[in-house]
Parts: sequence; structure tokens; C-alpha cells
Amino acid sequence: MKETVKIAIDGPAGAGKSTVAKIIAQRLGYIYIDTGAMYRALTYKIIQLNLDLKDTSLLINCANNTSITLDNSLGIANQLVYCDGKDVTELIRTPAVNKLVSHVAQISEIRTIMVKIQQKLGLTNNIIMDGRDIGSVVLPEAKYKFFLTAALEERVKRRQKELLEKGYNVEYKTVMNDLLNRDLLDTTRETAPLKIAEDAIIIDTSSLTLAEVVEKILAIVMEGEKDAL
Ligand code: C5P
Repeated sequence: MKETVKIAIDGPAGAGKSTVAKIIAQRLGYIYIDTGAMYRALTYKIIQLNLDLKDTSLLINCANNTSITLDNSLGIANQLVYCDGKDVTELIRTPAVNKLVSHVAQISEIRTIMVKIQQKLGLTNNIIMDGRDIGSVVLPEAKYKFFLTAALEERVKRRQKELLEKGYNVEYKTVMNDLLNRDLLDTTRETAPLKIAEDAIIIDTSSLTLAEVVEKILAIVMEGEKDAL
């Protein structure tokens, strides 16, 4: 089987990972995979079922009995998220999910389930995958690894704008607390914490435009793939 090209993009919330990854997927014709959406979909279901977040075995049982699928049939960068057959693409972007997703994502048995699905997706396609543990755990063999970061104020502003565009008018301070809480849980959890993979290229996007970040990454990948592209 021909070896697929894998691009891993990690970083904290609001660093611009998904926006950048979608554009690069389109430019290169690779499939975009948003792994955060999978943790979000499960969290959405847990909220719907009103499960006790402190009952870890109940949450693991729920994860074992949930089917989460990512569908790119509308376009390589246009990912639809399904949970038990229901389209939850928009439903997983609410402040309620934002608040709880990192609690769900810190359970190591749940991560094992998600990582298995994510690794399978990379076997047959050229992919660009974003998340927190992609370069370090999910695709340690990825040829290209990037770690996007940005100053907290910038990340809060971007996330607040994104929420507003979806119809949620959330105060700056609330968005900041949500990001700080998630950063803390994501960087300190025992299993696969958010960290910079040893061989990742770090890009601080605070003072870069979206186009500049995209061009930086594309230049590196295109140079590496110049014989294949
Ligand atoms: O990327 P996004 O902000 O949608 O991710 C939501 C949450 O899912 C993160 O804050 C993190 O807790 C979790 N996540 C993770 N590992 C990934 C992707 C997301 O733990 N690979």
C-alpha cells in the first residue's frame, strides 16, 4: 500500500488550528479531520443523557456504546459530524459543550476509543488532522507536525468572534475563563496531555494573518512533497 502523507496540527483552543487546517486541506486535496469534534460529539451525548460527569465508568460505557463518524462527502474540508447517526455538526459548538468537553477528554479509556478511530482514518487517505495529541500520540509517525499557538488575549478574541457568528453573545471574561480552564485540564491530564511533539515546528500566530500561517505551513509541506504534488 502506498504510504499516505499525514500532517499533524496541535495547539491550544483558539490558536487557529481548524481554520488553517481546512484551507490547507483544500489547497492540497487532503482530507481534513477535526479530532476535537469527536470529543465534542460524545460530550454532547453525555449532556443530552444528563449523565453524572463524576461517574467515570458510566461515561466510558456511554463512549463504548456511541458511534461517532466524520463525513467528508460534502467536500474534503467540509466535515460533518454524526453521533449515533444524528448530524450534530452545529450542536457540538455550544458554550455548554465547550465547558464540559475537556472533562470528558481527560478519561484515558475514552481517549483510547477515539485514538483508534482517528488512526484508522489516516491509513487510506492523505490527511491533515488537528487536535491536542496528534503529533505526540495519534500520528507520531506524521511527516509534518506543527504546533500552533497564540497569546491568550488573541485566542479569546478569536473564540468570542466565532461564538458570536454562531449566535452566542458570550462575555470576554467568560470566554477567557473557559479557555483557561480547558488549557489547564488539557495540559495537566495524565493521558496524552497537550504538549509540543519533539519534532514539531512551532508557529506563534498572534501577529500573523490567516494567510501568512497557511503560507508558512504550505511552503514546508510543498517543499517536502515537491516530487509528489
Ligand atoms: O479542538 P477543540 O477545541 O474543538 O477541542 C475540544 C476539546 O477536546 C479540547 O479542549 C480537548 O479537551 C479535547 N481534545 C483532546 N484531544 C484532541 C482534540 C480535542 O483532548 N485530539
